[in-house]
Amino acid sequence: MYFTEQHELVRKLARDFATKELTNEILDEVEETAIFPQEILDKMAKAGFFGIKTPREYGGQGADVRSYVLAMEEIARVSAVASLYVSSPNSLAGGPLLLAGNEEQLEKYLRPVVTGEKILCFGLTEPGAGSDAGGMTTTAVKDGDYYILNGRKTFITMAPFSDYAIIYAKTDMSKGTHGISAFIVDMKAEGVSTGKPENKMGIIGCGTSDIIMENVRVHKSEMLGEENEGFINAMKTLDLGRIGVASQGIGVAQGALDDAIAYAKERKQFGRPLAKFQAIAFMIAEMATKLEAAKQLVYKAAYLKDTNASPKECSLAASMAKYYATETCNEICAKALQIHGGYGFIKEYKIERRYRDCRVFTIYEGTSQVQQMVISGSLLK
Ligand SMILES: Cc1cc2nc3c(=O)[nH]c(=O)nc-3n(C[C@H](O)[C@H](O)[C@H](O)COP(=O)(O)OP(=O)(O)OC[C@H]3O[C@@H](n4cnc5c(N)ncnc54)[C@H](O)[C@@H]3O)c2cc1C
Repeated sequence: MYFTEQHELVRKLARDFATKELTNEILDEVEETAIFPQEILDKMAKAGFFGIKTPREYGGQGADVRSYVLAMEEIARVSAVASLYVSSPNSLAGGPLLLAGNEEQLEKYLRPVVTGEKILCFGLTEPGAGSDAGGMTTTAVKDGDYYILNGRKTFITMAPFSDYAIIYAKTDMSKGTHGISAFIVDMKAEGVSTGKPENKMGIIGCGTSDIIMENVRVHKSEMLGEENEGFINAMKTLDLGRIGVASQGIGVAQGALDDAIAYAKERKQFGRPLAKFQAIAFMIAEMATKLEAAKQLVYKAAYLKDTNASPKECSLAASMAKYYATETCNEICAKALQIHGGYGFIKEYKIERRYRDCRVFTIYEGTSQVQQMVISGSLLK
């Protein structure tokens, strides 16, 4: 009900791409090497996945949020880590630029992100400031035409191989979240370094690390938006980001459900396929029903964004979608693994990877508890 024929074409394009290009062989290699093949990234860029929502004037597809959701869902259905390479340029990298970038910044930074020539990461979280991002201690002190940045960002997706980072830093320590500004920082600038890539449980093949800044000089022209308005930029970016993570959730959950159904039909015990046991059949019925409910929340959140609903309505819908879709994805993957019995615990079966990959969905871009805070906060005002 939320989609036009055009949207269905986007879904088909993404599904065809994922099934053709993201083969088991390639995904196994990604797990082993922790490196995502450049060749696939080049193909993703060529297919337009890095700029789905980016206006055509900056090299993007100029499509809507629903198109983005469908592309994310279909890619994540095959590979969660591949979907991260789609979400980053569209959301955490492209989002802050589209919200606050001036013409020069959009040309310089957004266009090469869409073509895949440059990678840009989003640096908000710090070792001591996660859910409470406003408690950050990274500072940006004005010095003539420059700002001097000092601090450490943590868990930054793609930091180990990014060309630029959007860094949120305090320009006025006395103003709390109203004293935060956003900067575009060149990862090769003097004083910038990265920590060692984290050894993660899942989404292996997309490096995550700290970004350390020691007296980094950033020209005032690299400030994104107005001084002290960076926190609003970050929160607005996360509104869309949450719809992206929710789409990863429904995609991975669909993949897990597909696996569970195929396995239940094929595996025999007590002389019958598992699917013939009511306990298993009902488990599958529950998984499918919850997945459908999650999809409706995600599609609705995207539809509200596309139809310019009020920011409050959009924010509430995005949090509900992220909360429910990611929790449900974890539940569905756990059940799908259970249906696989011992084989579900073995790496040769895809469900083992899906189960690990989706664990972070309820954590990054605002934990489930943070989503509950947003949802209850809007209801209990
Ligand atoms: C793989 C990965 C990639 C990431 N990528 C990025 C990135 O690209 N850029 C970026 O900026 N960040 C990134 N993050 C960081 C991520 O957004 C944070 O980990 C997340 O916001 C949670 O912060 P935290 O880890 O400090 O947990 P904490 O905030 O310390 O929370 C710990 C626990 O306490 C709960 N909690 C906290 N406060 C409350 C409260 N008031 N009420 C109830 N419960 C509460 C949380 O829900 C959680 O369960 C990434 C993280 C991971 C793991």
